[in-house]
Amino acid sequence: MDKHTFITEQLVNRGITNPRVLEAFKKIPREEFISERFKENAYNDSALPIGHGQTISQPYTVAYMTQLLGPKEEDTILEIGTGSGYQSAILSKLVKKVYTIEIIEELSNRAREKFKKLGITNVECIKGSGEPGLPQYAPYDGIIVTAGAKQIPKALRKELKDGGRLVIPVGANDIKIMTRITKHGDTYQEEKFGKFTFVPLVG
Ligand code: SAH
Repeated sequence: MDKHTFITEQLVNRGITNPRVLEAFKKIPREEFISERFKENAYNDSALPIGHGQTISQPYTVAYMTQLLGPKEEDTILEIGTGSGYQSAILSKLVKKVYTIEIIEELSNRAREKFKKLGITNVECIKGSGEPGLPQYAPYDGIIVTAGAKQIPKALRKELKDGGRLVIPVGANDIKIMTRITKHGDTYQEEKFGKFTFVPLVG
């Protein structure tokens, strides 16, 4: 499948309607984030191995989470789980600044090089665990966790701005429920969406 058909069939026809999100998918070449032997599958809607037992997420999942995050031009976003860097690259076209944390050093380094190659200058790659969030640059307009959590790490909600959104797949077993927490003053609104599978959040 080519990128154009992919965007129509796998994203638009499945409810991804935010025009800015669709525009970002047009701009970012997914094949760049995939190893040589899987490149022909770049526009199939499937997760693919990226080494170290990790995967680049299914593009529909990336689009779904991005839409839930509701990124705005002036936003600063924190991503936990850089992986291939694809999700961050999509966000780079939608917001002002992206911080992305990855626990596996080689993946973090590879993503940093990829952004350089593609001329993406507003994503900063950090090596480490995202469980405590990234307090040094907090608060964030949005936090997106791209690994499956057993529960919501407590630190993350504290790093949201007022009106900020946290999008995270949560669940005790392998099937995770996509969850969005929105901070309104001192309260946190929780909304639950569809079921997804993810590689586990470590820690
Ligand atoms: N967003 C990625 C998909 C990542 S898969 C993409 O677009 O390709 C999830 C990633 O989260 C894996 O690379 C894994 O190593 C990383 N990860 C798991 N637990 C983590 C933690 N506690 N802190 C930071 N990264 C973590």
